[in-house]
Amino acid sequence: MRAWLEPLRRNQRSQKWAQRARSERQKQCFEALSLLQRYIDGELDPSDVEVFEQHLDACRACGLELRVYLDIKSSLADRREDPDHAAAARLRQFTMRLRDQD
Ligand SMILES: [Zn+2]
Repeated sequence: MRAWLEPLRRNQRSQKWAQRARSERQKQCFEALSLLQRYIDGELDPSDVEVFEQHLDACRACGLELRVYLDIKSSLADRREDPDHAAAARLRQFTMRLRDQD
């Protein structure tokens, strides 16, 4: 192989790796969000709780998602005013954008 091609090839490899890492991350987020409701309700198995919390430590988007749900839940529990649905929707969109970024 020509030596001058090597940096280019290396770059292609790292792009492929980044793509794979991104879709792996999306899969993890999807799994985490599928556990979210049961986590909040305290219905998860301890082993699932561990996996879920490990993901939250590493993933800002899912951490924000959890906070939105907890806010909604606590405002319902306190029987305060209804949660601000528009604000919750904006926050959701924000976390989706974060997740789709690198
Ligand atoms: Zn996530």
